This record gives sequence, C-alpha cells and structure tokens, in this order.
Amino acid sequence: MSTPAGPAQETRLRDLRAGSAPVAIVARIVTAERREVVRKSDGGRRPVLSGLVSDGTATVRFTWWDPPKEDVDRGSVLRASPVEVREFRGAIELTLGWRTKAAPASPSELPELTDEERRPRPLADLKTRQEGFVILARIAQISEKAVTVGADRRIVFEGILEDANDDLAFTAWTDFRLRVGETVRIGGGYVGTFRGLRRLTLDERAQVDRVDAKLVPPSTRSMERVPLGRLAEGSGSERTRIIGRVVGLQPPSGLVARCPSCHRRTDAGACRVHGMVTPEPDLSARAVIDDGTGTLSANLDRAIIERLTGRTLDDYRRLLAARADASAVEAELADSLFGRRLELEGPVRRDEYGLSMDPREVHEQELDLTVAAKALRQRASRGAGS
Ligand SMILES: [Zn+2]
Repeated sequence: MSTPAGPAQETRLRDLRAGSAPVAIVARIVTAERREVVRKSDGGRRPVLSGLVSDGTATVRFTWWDPPKEDVDRGSVLRASPVEVREFRGAIELTLGWRTKAAPASPSELPELTDEERRPRPLADLKTRQEGFVILARIAQISEKAVTVGADRRIVFEGILEDANDDLAFTAWTDFRLRVGETVRIGGGYVGTFRGLRRLTLDERAQVDRVDAKLVPPSTRSMERVPLGRLAEGSGSERTRIIGRVVGLQPPSGLVARCPSCHRRTDAGACRVHGMVTPEPDLSARAVIDDGTGTLSANLDRAIIERLTGRTLDDYRRLLAARADASAVEAELADSLFGRRLELEGPVRRDEYGLSMDPREVHEQELDLTVAAKALRQRASRGAGS
C-alpha cells in the first residue's frame, strides 16, 4: 500500500473511483454489523465492522478493521480519513484500517446536495442499497402486521407505494398513520430486498409528509394483466396481476403445522428457530396456475383457501380425523381447486424453480362449464378405477 502525498482529499461518495489515492469522507452509517474474522496466520480473532454508509450522493459498502469498541450507531455521521477505495464485484467499497482516523461529525458537514440530487426520484429509478433520495408517491396498499424481533413483539406497517410508472413495497417500523390513497413525500428511506424484489424500509429517521395529490400523477400501469410467458423472461414485480387455471397442486398442500411464535412450518413439533413448540394447525396450498403461456406456483393461504373452497380449517381437520389418511386433505383441496380460473395479484419472483407468487388477492373468474364438466368426468373416472 503506497502512502499518499499530502492529506487525503475530501470526496463525495458519488465521486469515488476505485484505485484512487485514499480519501477523506463524511457520511452517515446506514447499516453496521460487527463480527470477528479468524486470522489464518495465528488463529487470532480480529474484529471487523461492515455495512453501508451514505452521504446523500451515494450509498457504499464499508469494511472497518479493528473498529472502536463502543457501538457505532446507525444514523450517526462520521468523518474518516484516510480511507482506501477499491472495487469489489463491480461496486465501490471503502476500507478503514489502522491508519484511519474516524470521529463523529455533524450532519451539517455532509456534502451540500445539488438541486438535481434533491429532486424527487421516480420509483422506477431506485435501486437496491440506495439511500439519501426523496420520492413522491401514493399509498396503494397498507396493512399492519405483528412481527417477532428477538424477544419483542412489534407492529410493522407493510404496503405498496405507486407513482405514474412503477410501484415499490415498503415496510415502516414507525406508525406514520398512512392511509390508502394519500400522497406523500418521503425522505430518509433505504432500499433493501425481500425475496428478490426491492423493498423500501422506513424507520424513525424517515420523514413522511402529506403532499397535494396533483404532485403524484395516477398510476398508468397498475392493473395490467401479465402473461406468464413474459414473466418467465423478465423479472417479477410487486403487483403483478395474472389470470390462469389451477392445473395441479404441489406439496406442501393441505393441513400444515406452524410455530405459534414465528409461523414457520414445524417438523415433528420442532421449529427451526424456537425448538420444540405446540404447533398450530393451518391450511396451505401450492397451486400450479397455467395461463396458456406458462405456469406459476401460487402459495394460497388459509383465508384464500377457505373462501375459494367454502370449507374452514376445522372442516378439513374433521375430514382428516374421519379418513385417518394424511393425503385426504390434499386430495380434497385438489378436487375443489382443479380447473378453476383465478385472477391473482401479488409479488411474483423468479428463481431456479420457476415463477412463484404469494398472492395478496385472489378472485375467481367466471366458472367455465366445459372445464368443470371435464374435471367432474376425471374425478368420476378416478373414482371408478380405484
Ligand atoms: Zn418458531
């Protein structure tokens, strides 16, 4: 490592270049995680703090070797120099080492933003790991959900924002009292990912202000139906609407057992996280949907299954008790769902297993009598053959 001549130059994160001389930065800690790395030479443990910093012009990953012992709080602003700049997997990274001096700084020392940088950004422009942007959007959906964080039970608010050309899922850890249809200006958010899709996180540092509805033109794309064949080529989106027919069920479908704390499926009474628990029964179905251009597996939850089949969880539990056959519930679900034409809306993701969706809404399309008749005939012939 060469020693630079003179003091390190203060550089905005957006202007960092890999391989440049070490720089001085002023930036806010977005995320920070402390861990220990085992030295190969002597097996000793070396502490390292890594995460993301942002100065409003860009957000970059950092690694801080031998960081201070006291906690470095998320949201605090630091001045650090000299800091090495390198590139890793195509992205700029900062390294703070033993020569780096870091000290708290005031938010007023952060770089002055240009008008261009302060301008609200279209949702379509936002990329994972971004921070320091302002957006104007409309609340398209919002619901609250209880989650377990460590030993705490917390309420989070999950929803979808939309602007003229895109939408973006968000999770708010603070109650901003958002309502569907409101138009808001949001600053101080952070874009992460959830199941392969972008998701905006809003914590207590976020600023949410109501703005005039005229500032957010209505969405032009929200309810367009997408053929599955097209989804298989591109990436999924947060609010995809598809219409197709149920052509089969995949396991796990039927009665499932879940951990009462985290709702993960249990295995012989054990939760992967909470150990032995008293599981709660639930209904689940992985329905294979075919729209003629491709297939997708849709994870139908208890509320959707109960509405589509007209039978409750208790009905299915009684059925299982009466038949004493573990596959009875799955067979019954397959019989009542097979051939039905459904309209589904929700986030679609694409991975090595193909397309899948956790639909937020499912509606039955018109009942197609020829298909219903065919399904009945198949059921009758299966019954006759057994
Ligand atoms: Zn659990």
